[in-house]
Amino acid sequence: MLIKIDPRLPSPKGVALAIMEICRRDDATIVEIARVVQTDPALSGRLLRLANAATHGRRPIAAIPDAILRLGLSAVRLLAMGFSLVDQYPNGPCQSFDYPRFWSHSLLMAVACQELGAHTRDGPPDELFVCGLLARIGSLALATIYPVEYAQLLAQQDAGSALLELEHQRLHVDHKELTSAILIDYGIPTAFVEPLCYHEAPEVSGFSEGSRPYQLAHLFYHAKCLADLGLTPETERYSKTSELMLLGGKIGLDVDKTGAVVDRIFLQWRVWGELLKVPTSTLPPFAKMTTAAAPKSVGEGESARLRVLLVEDDTTSRIMMEGVLRRMLGRPVYSAINGQEALAMALEVMPQIVVTDWLMPVMDGIEFCRALRATEWGQAMYIIMLTSVETEKELVEAFEAGVDDYVIKPVNIPALSARMRAALRYVNLLETWEWDRAQLKQFAAELAISNRRLEHAALTDLLTGMPNRRAGLDALSQAWLGTTRSGQPLSVIMIDIDHFKSINDNYGHAVGDIVLKEAAKAIQVMARKDDSVCRLGGEEFLVICRNTDLKSAFHAAERLRKMVRSLKIKVADVEMQTAISIGVACKEFDMPDADVMVNAADKALYAAKHFGRDRTCVISQNQVYGSHDELPPEFYLPED
Ligand code: GH3
Ligand code: MG
Ligand code: MG
Ligand code: MG
Repeated sequence: MLIKIDPRLPSPKGVALAIMEICRRDDATIVEIARVVQTDPALSGRLLRLANAATHGRRPIAAIPDAILRLGLSAVRLLAMGFSLVDQYPNGPCQSFDYPRFWSHSLLMAVACQELGAHTRDGPPDELFVCGLLARIGSLALATIYPVEYAQLLAQQDAGSALLELEHQRLHVDHKELTSAILIDYGIPTAFVEPLCYHEAPEVSGFSEGSRPYQLAHLFYHAKCLADLGLTPETERYSKTSELMLLGGKIGLDVDKTGAVVDRIFLQWRVWGELLKVPTSTLPPFAKMTTAAAPKSVGEGESARLRVLLVEDDTTSRIMMEGVLRRMLGRPVYSAINGQEALAMALEVMPQIVVTDWLMPVMDGIEFCRALRATEWGQAMYIIMLTSVETEKELVEAFEAGVDDYVIKPVNIPALSARMRAALRYVNLLETWEWDRAQLKQFAAELAISNRRLEHAALTDLLTGMPNRRAGLDALSQAWLGTTRSGQPLSVIMIDIDHFKSINDNYGHAVGDIVLKEAAKAIQVMARKDDSVCRLGGEEFLVICRNTDLKSAFHAAERLRKMVRSLKIKVADVEMQTAISIGVACKEFDMPDADVMVNAADKALYAAKHFGRDRTCVISQNQVYGSHDELPPEFYLPED
């Protein structure tokens, strides 16, 4: 592969490289890795911070081995690698490649992937962090291998040509292909690399809607949009917030929740920026960005709810101007005699247009203008200054104070009229824009609700109201991941109703449904607080028992079995009884994933059916135990 043969490609060094080497071995231990991590104080600090970020009120971690245990070996390996790259390439030889900006964007994407992943549960947040950090590592690679050619290419791209195409034409490889080759070489799972390839344009991925790669590609795209917002100049930010509101809606976040998530991401970005010496910036709260003033531009229009405030200390001029404006706009105007009075009146009537004199007692026009612009509600007002001076220095002062336009005194009516037309166009645009914004917010809120509902429906079994197979298996893989980090035991109980077909055959499908519902209810009621129950399909159920060893799971299963057998289900005066067979398995050290554990439980269940039904079998090390004399004595309670 290209990566292996080209030593110039970005690659981790030092401690990170040592960690990757150790992790390649099957017998790598946490103690061994902790020892290597501890030789690098910066890496130690960063890992501790990440481990503690996910504590949610748990005891804070101060020791590296504990941090590694909580993060998991694979996340530690990937993080060490990512950090090593950030440290090695703060700058570089490619003239047009903005290295600090590259890392700033990458870091923001990393934090966004982590936060969004924690919300959508599409993957382990710390591993998603690394995916975000290295999402465009191919671009850095091109800048590193071909500093001169890539600089020329980037300069040309600024002129508007498509980057991927240019890269292909000139370098015969593009940053997307290179990113995926590098990430696979670094050992990042293909399940992440493939969706990451499409983070710039998820719509062309061809992944089927709702599939895991599809969800991940959209999560990465969402993170990219957030990172774009973080690096966008203030005046253009508002245009980027709309898409983020909609993307939030798609993952079940209304505008307020989107705001909270985005604000948390920007805060984390700054904290990480300090830690990694990557530049970041401080952004206003998302809510503020979405309500920022519309861009000022001109257009025709007239407003029915127009309010104009005139501020003029000279009585004759004021009366004259009131008349002119009234005739011009077809409505009376509000007026005040100095800045101070005008400020109070502006707060009360919220004018869209303010026409103010410059020289006035108490508070002059410039001070008044500054005071208005310092408030949130005064940002969007259109301010026209009346002035008898027109030197450049004074005009600059007026514009700096926030004035939008000026009219020379004595006022020439056609000139004022032209100015007012521009002001009216602005007011009109602003209103349309605010209306669009309100519509958009409403739409995003509805989208969030309907997506939450859809998600609930997609994860819920209609007949029993229990989580369905998909939700159950999702919960199981989360639980599996949790035990990989914590080392706690994990068991599953697989249940199948005995001779259920004969209930359908004898009493009909509708009665079968009632029995199924009653049995499901009983199983759910009997399950313990930390257990998750789901309907796997037909008359089969799965109970996930967190922090439970085989023996305790066996006891829980036996309690369930006895309870179901004692149920008296009444359907139209007929009292029915039913029984279940159960297979129990627990996570064993050599099991590679949760599927293997579920298959083991299935095997035990099959044995329970075979031994005569209405019983629980357990499986351990591939050996099924199904009767009293086969199980170790401690499995049975005295009353058995
Ligand atoms: P065993 O003790 O071996 O498990 O016998 P069984 O009859 O329960 O086994 P089998 O798996 O062959 O049959 C399960 C039956 O459950 C077949 C299917 O018609 C019925 N079934 C599956 N889903 C539903 C449902 O939602 N409602 C009803 N009423 N019946 C269902
Ligand atoms: Mg005056
Ligand atoms: Mg059955
Ligand atoms: Mg069955």
